[in-house]
Amino acid sequence: MITGIKGMNDILPTEMEAWHFLENQVREVFHSFGFKEIRVPALEKTELFCRSIGDDTDIVEKEMYTFLDKSGHSLTLRPEGTASVMRSYIEHKLYAQNQVERLYYVGPMFRYERPQKGRYRQFHQIGAEIIGENSPLADVQLLNMLCRYFERIGITDATLQLNSLGCPDCRPGYRQTLIDFISSRLDGLCTDCRRRYQHNPLRVLDCKVEECRRACQDAPSVLDHLCADCSGHFATVRRLLTELAIPFEVNNRMVRGLDYYTRTTFEMVSGRLGAQNAVAAGGRYDGLVASLGGPAVSGIGFAIGMERLILMLDESTLPVSRPDLFLVTLGEKALDRGFSLLSRMQREGLHAEMDFSGKSLKAQMRRADKLQARVVLILGEDELTRNQIQIRDMDRGSQDTIDLDQLFPILGERLSDI
Ligand code: ATP
Ligand code: MG
Repeated sequence: MITGIKGMNDILPTEMEAWHFLENQVREVFHSFGFKEIRVPALEKTELFCRSIGDDTDIVEKEMYTFLDKSGHSLTLRPEGTASVMRSYIEHKLYAQNQVERLYYVGPMFRYERPQKGRYRQFHQIGAEIIGENSPLADVQLLNMLCRYFERIGITDATLQLNSLGCPDCRPGYRQTLIDFISSRLDGLCTDCRRRYQHNPLRVLDCKVEECRRACQDAPSVLDHLCADCSGHFATVRRLLTELAIPFEVNNRMVRGLDYYTRTTFEMVSGRLGAQNAVAAGGRYDGLVASLGGPAVSGIGFAIGMERLILMLDESTLPVSRPDLFLVTLGEKALDRGFSLLSRMQREGLHAEMDFSGKSLKAQMRRADKLQARVVLILGEDELTRNQIQIRDMDRGSQDTIDLDQLFPILGERLSDI
């Protein structure tokens, strides 16, 4: 038996209702905020991710699926969506069409991680980006859209955590202050942090190792080092969130694992997810587009992990898909006639099913029950000779025998009120 790859899951038909629900709702909510979908390839040149995400991030250091293709080019399965979207934005000069672009994507991402609950090697993200807008209104609009989406799908127990990472004016000062602080605590740090703190001190604050967390407890706060512009931007974001009644917590330890972030960063976390507690994350990336060779435009975005969303979903909020009709036939003639009725029902847009193999009445009824068909139609030899059919409403428990030529008008009536 050939099995699938560890950490890469099949999404089976029984799980599909949840996925379709998330995808349908995302389109409705995001469209109402003026976002347009973009689809980019799953493979990109490796260099794109090294340059945008940053060479000494966990993703680039350890998690990428990178290989040489048959021509010797280094390619990588995308570990996240923003880099590819920005590559496409620059390549197709989307900035020449609209000064501000609002884009979203839905699709698989790939990271070579240790698989566990909520952490897989192929997983799916819903992401959104606003490119070309500096205003803090963009930050708030994006966060509002994220919250409205969560509300729409019935997730009420996620908390928004907010921070600001400053800009190229104020971050270097904070960076140095942090390096000095960390130098005085080196003994308590893990080997990764000791190696990277000079180069990337912010990552130390993000480290999951308990000792590192403890060592950094009284580290200087980035929020005390913001320049006047960054601090004003952050204050406006907080004020507008409050005006929109969007609850949030400021978390000055949340630095995010990617290099490209500036100013506002955020995560949606939930106690329900256990160790993998972040369900969505994002932030501003004002220098990213220019660093990839595009114009100097700012941007802000987020990505939601769909598998983690599904772990949080309340199953009872999912719409159930039941057949409108199950057609039971008895005998060969009825099977033939039934098949043509079935085809007509499907042409009319009804969800109708039947059995093709001449099973017993009991077996066919069992199947109809299992599928939870709303209406069961029974066509036997007797009914056929009288040009009639039995119609059984499974929810009301009522049963009638009607003329076959009345079938479609009656079905129209009965099924329209469900
Ligand atoms: P974590 O801290 O859990 O590793 P991250 O900071 O690496 O998350 P991001 O790169 O910000 O995650 O991705 C955004 C979201 O995508 C996460 O909040 C999470 O919901 C989801 N996600 C990230 N990695 C995985 C994974 N390996 N499996 C499933 N979902 C994931
Ligand atoms: Mg990660």
